[in-house]
Amino acid sequence: MPGSELFGAEERKEVMDVLETGIMFRYNHDQQRKGIWKAKEFEHELADFVNVKYAHVVSSGSTAVATMMAACGIGAGDEVIVPPFTYIATVEGALLNGAIPVFAEIDDTLCLSPEGIRAAITPKTKAVVLVQMCGAMARMDEIINLCKEQNIMLIEDTAQALGASYRGQMLGTFGIMGAYSFDFFKIITAGEGGAIITNNEQLYKNADMYSDHGHDHIGDNRGMENHPVLGFNYRISELHAAVGLAQLRKIKYILEKKKANKRILKEAISKYPEVSFRFLPDPEGDSATFLSFFMPTEDLARATARELAKAGIGVNYWYDNNYHYIRNWEHLKEMKTIAKIPIEILGSRQDYRTLQLPQSDLIMGRLISIGIRITWTEQDLANIIDKIEHIFKEVLSL
Ligand SMILES: *Cc1c(COP(=O)(O)O)cnc(C)c1O
Repeated sequence: MPGSELFGAEERKEVMDVLETGIMFRYNHDQQRKGIWKAKEFEHELADFVNVKYAHVVSSGSTAVATMMAACGIGAGDEVIVPPFTYIATVEGALLNGAIPVFAEIDDTLCLSPEGIRAAITPKTKAVVLVQMCGAMARMDEIINLCKEQNIMLIEDTAQALGASYRGQMLGTFGIMGAYSFDFFKIITAGEGGAIITNNEQLYKNADMYSDHGHDHIGDNRGMENHPVLGFNYRISELHAAVGLAQLRKIKYILEKKKANKRILKEAISKYPEVSFRFLPDPEGDSATFLSFFMPTEDLARATARELAKAGIGVNYWYDNNYHYIRNWEHLKEMKTIAKIPIEILGSRQDYRTLQLPQSDLIMGRLISIGIRITWTEQDLANIIDKIEHIFKEVLSL
């Protein structure tokens, strides 16, 4: 998956620029910083790359998701439709804002399905948080139309999908706001970091203020600038932004390599008629972060994943892990929190302990994802394919 495979001289150079001035704060200190503005530069290049007017980088993908929701005015009592297959940050972001996460079914795109979204809509639904899961897209046309028809905001959690697109347009730019993550495991990394993107000036300003205690960032005297609203500190440091900037400059290479490596792997697996692949509404736009495929049954999927892992292949069987699918989110089901979330309000909508998502279970139970690495050599790929073929033959003959 990650740009962290390519950490090198370029990242070190950007970090050294910052260390030489000692100004690790992203605002002000105009004299001492000698023209070094890594966060700003990162924002400009990111906006350019995804072709939007505004990008604002923050401390993580999680804070980007929370900021995006706050900026859009999603809060107390609002229902937001979220997928059960995501990273928990999507759900926590809603809870942090006082909103009510409502889970809807996914389909074989691994993302929310239009039918699932429609079934989850109530008069309280404020937004759909479309997670472009595992680096590729949902059924975009139908979901965009549905949100328009129902007058519901569409926002995108594109934490895993930087550089993925749908019919030539970057994922993250279909909703009114999008959020990226640059944590250590994502397509590019800043160590920790995230970004929100939008074409809407007011939403951008909201995000910019909210993520820095409401400061409006007008003028160059931090102590004297206005803070029209309350917010919090979700700022990124210049050191992290420096790493992110160097990584962003490698994104085209990253995508190219992943696509090439994924193509070879997919071709090898395509020989097995028992195996089917994740549905990609626009295969060209896939970021090729994972090769995701379905085995005929849950038992076969579990057995295959176990053997692949044993053979040293980077494999995810999400149905059993406790990070990405609701099935094992005991903390959510029991609403175990440290902060006092108004559980009475949440419980009035969906009881997460008894919630049934049969269609999502069917998909997740049979799903295996292999992480595509950038630095695989031809020999590495040949070895991996050998191992996979061996395992498939064995497992499928059972
Ligand atoms: C990683 C991730 C996040 C959170 O990003 P962090 O930078 O780790 O905080 C949010 N949503 C999804 C879908 C993710 O994969």
